[in-house]
Amino acid sequence: MKTEFSLAQLADPDIKEADKILRACVHCGFCTATCPTYVLLGDELDSPRGRIYLIKEMLEKDKPPTADVVKHIDRCLSCLACMTTCPSGVNYMHLVDQARVRIERDYSRPLTERLLRSVLAFVLPRPGLFRISMILARLARPLAALLPTPSVGASTPGLLRRIKAMLALAPRGLPRPGPAAGTVFAPLGRRRGRVALLQGCAQQVLAPRINQAAINVLTRHGIEVVLVKDEQCCGALTHHMGQDGDALERARANVTVWQREADGEGLDAILVTASGCGTVVKDYGYLLREDKTFAEPAQRISALTKDITEYLARLELVPSTQKGDVTIAYHSACSLQHGQKISQLPKELLSKNGFVVKDVPESHLCCGSAGTYNILQPDIAIRLRDRKVANIAMVEPDMIAAGNIGCMVQIAGGTSVPVVHTIELLDWATGGPRPGLN
Ligand code: SF4
Ligand code: SF4
Repeated sequence: MKTEFSLAQLADPDIKEADKILRACVHCGFCTATCPTYVLLGDELDSPRGRIYLIKEMLEKDKPPTADVVKHIDRCLSCLACMTTCPSGVNYMHLVDQARVRIERDYSRPLTERLLRSVLAFVLPRPGLFRISMILARLARPLAALLPTPSVGASTPGLLRRIKAMLALAPRGLPRPGPAAGTVFAPLGRRRGRVALLQGCAQQVLAPRINQAAINVLTRHGIEVVLVKDEQCCGALTHHMGQDGDALERARANVTVWQREADGEGLDAILVTASGCGTVVKDYGYLLREDKTFAEPAQRISALTKDITEYLARLELVPSTQKGDVTIAYHSACSLQHGQKISQLPKELLSKNGFVVKDVPESHLCCGSAGTYNILQPDIAIRLRDRKVANIAMVEPDMIAAGNIGCMVQIAGGTSVPVVHTIELLDWATGGPRPGLN
């Protein structure tokens, strides 16, 4: 794609990067076929190629975007299916991230939307506040029936519709909090390694059992696990809302504490059980590339970061439980399959440990969760969820497995089949409790 940035614009490292990305696009349109919003809405401007044009215009003209441009960029799930499909290696992720930062900087959203986004950005990364908000949401749930229902139209949803979506996502009960930051879990038997486990923010409130399962499997196989003190939310939530000031501060804080741990007791890896977070932490090196102090340490941290399944694939897991034939529908989270290019590994681990694993039809399509997307774009999100649940039902599973808490909550909202994390199944297979019973 031909670009027309001025020399002055190209002096900005972000624009230089955007120019490189835009020039790689050859307008072939292969990406449209796998883009969930194009598949649903059929509008070129809701496809990757259409959005790339809109972003190019916005950056070249260097003027505040129009409401229409913002609407189409906001509808992007950042699922990155387009990056998997693109034959030219267009880095859509870094381009749309830049567009979101521009929108946040130059576009004035309606007041109610600004308020909602500010509340989400403030509450979600703080587990204490998030816990309180979930309790309040549960109490307010009966009011949801009075709020507007999903519309099939393509208009931007209003505040009440979004609040209804938020209430619908609130769980009926909250588990007790997991272990405190700073806890070190000793390995059983000879120590074979030492890792940090990202504690996450929403996940530690909604499902601390996921990291508990990871700790069980790791310590059972000789790995010491540390929950690093002073660790923060990875920054993914605010990063995807274009609030890079907040996201980069969190990235710097995490790089600092993980580096201290790696230089102290030592770390073989930083493990992540929420693939949405893992994709962003693996990108810290890129996000902080212009920061003289943090560029190098951030690259080191990104290189140390692994999805839990990547690390477990290097250990020989010892299956211990006879489970009989349990059929698992494996939902491939977008952040794992498109963001981190990990698609076969979790299925192989599950198969090797005695599960019957079934691929879900249209597995490349997002379930509609996508961070705060299911709150900000609830109508598209529900259509994607229902499509995903219908595809899952076709393989008639006993359980559904996924590697990302956002997908788990989203899919569980549309089915009665238990939705569990891959690591919970691996814990069960190697001597832990059967998941999906709570
Ligand atoms: S990230 Fe997903 S929703 Fe956004 S343009 Fe790419 S395929 Fe479409
Ligand atoms: S597939 Fe890649 S090169 Fe083709 S239009 Fe989409 S982004 Fe551009």
